[in-house]
Order: sequence, then structure tokens, then C-alpha cells
Amino acid sequence: MRRFAVVAVLCSIAAAAVARNLTLDGTLTQGALIRGFAGPGARVTLDGRPVRVAPDGHFILGFGCDAPPRASLDVILRDGSRVHRVLDIVRRHYGVRRVENLPPAEVTPPPETAARARRETAEIDQAFGRQSDSVAFAAPLEWPVIGTITGVYGSQTFLHGQPRQPHLGVDVTAPAGTPVKAADAGIVSLAESGPFFAGGAVVIDHGYGLSTLYVHLQHIAVRLGDRVTQGQIIGDLGVTGRATGPNLHWELFWNGIRLDPALAVGPMPDSANLVHDQTPPK
Ligand SMILES: [Zn+2]
Repeated sequence: MRRFAVVAVLCSIAAAAVARNLTLDGTLTQGALIRGFAGPGARVTLDGRPVRVAPDGHFILGFGCDAPPRASLDVILRDGSRVHRVLDIVRRHYGVRRVENLPPAEVTPPPETAARARRETAEIDQAFGRQSDSVAFAAPLEWPVIGTITGVYGSQTFLHGQPRQPHLGVDVTAPAGTPVKAADAGIVSLAESGPFFAGGAVVIDHGYGLSTLYVHLQHIAVRLGDRVTQGQIIGDLGVTGRATGPNLHWELFWNGIRLDPALAVGPMPDSANLVHDQTPPK
């Protein structure tokens, strides 16, 4: 019997706000990445902070997991006319995520390990801070791996019952060795095999403050500074770092804010329909 893929219309509804030459695409909700267009030469500010606009007039905005209910967008178009929009940001309700079965040293690392983990986290944050002039951000993201979503954005996390930072990424479980692909084109701004929590980690800078992070890789196929194309294999899915099984922890970052990758990429394709699209692990 033929099976039809069920497409969850979860986060992919594109709300378009149009005011003269200003367009915004994306769902205005906490964790969302919004793509905008205001024409060449436009100047854009969000809540009073400047937003970089590409020469062709495209820009992006992002809203964190706890973004307030309203944001103020001001645009000065090339002809000098001004557009002011109040954006209503829909509040989300996040679940709870309980992680057990970790080695005790990964739940509460000894002081020297904790210091190393802090340094590594700072390196990842520094990589996130890169803002190249790549305009890859204008293309829709693609899932880096097809599999089962086993961790969602925003969940309040408890490690062995201890409350931790919310989970600000998406976890996709697939067999170890499954190729992990670049969600979009960009420049590799971090490629490290050893971080304590992340394991094998890659950060790709897609330009204009947008980056993605790929964590728990067992093999890394790119180096710092490499230019990658969308869909290029950057490593293999693994269980390195603080992971309880083979999975990809995937984050999306814009200008200091972690966004929900699942909102930027749309529903996970039915993996049963994509078996032939998978490159076999090397
Ligand atoms: Zn995760």
C-alpha cells in the first residue's frame, strides 16, 4: 500500500507583511528567523538596533526563545520614506526535557573540566559572532540530516534531575556515520574535534550574522575557513561529547540569539521516502 507523507503544517506558514517596498517572510513567533526585503539602499533597525541590509536589499531578523510580545521595526527606504511596523511576536509554550544515563562527570564536571568546557563554549560563541558578507542567508535552510527529531527547541532541561539552560537547538537521531550536510552555503568558522560537551563541532557562517552549529560529529570533513555549498557533507553523525546516543544537535544563531532551526527549515521530510537520497557513510 502506498503511504503518503503527512506534512505537518507546524512552523512553515509564511506570513507576509507588505508595506510599500517592505516584505517580511516567516512566522512572527519566539525562536523565528524572518527574511526581509526593503530594496537596495534601505536602512533597517529592530528595536533601535541597526540590522545589516545586503546590497540587493535583503536582510534577516531573529527572535529568541523568550522574545517580548512586541518588536519595533523601522525602515528608511532609499527614497527617504519611512516605514514603521509594530511586530506582534507570538508566545510559545515549551516542554520539559529530562536527560538521564550520563556519566556523572558530564553532569557535574570537575573544576578543571568545567574551565575547559567554558573556554570551548566561548570559542563556539566567538565563531557565532562572525559576520561575513556572504549572502547565503537569503536561501531557505535544509535539514542537515534526515532522521527522527528527539529534542526540540526551548525545552527546559533537567540533567539527572538538575535544572539547566533550556535546550536551544534541535536533536535529530539517525544511525552513527550518517552524513551531516551544510544547511546552507557559507564559510566554516569553527571545526573542532575535541570540545568536551559538543564533541566534534562545526560552525558555518552564512553571512550577515546568521550561523549554524553541528554537534556530536564523529568525523569532520571540513576545515576552518573552507567555503561550503548547501548540502555539502561536513562530517558524520556520531555520539561524541555529551550525548546519550548517536544524534545531531543543531543550532541556528543570529546576532547573539539562538533561534529555532526547525522554524527556519520546515517539516522534517519522511525519512522512508528519502532512503535513496542518502549518501552512504564512508
Ligand atoms: Zn541537543
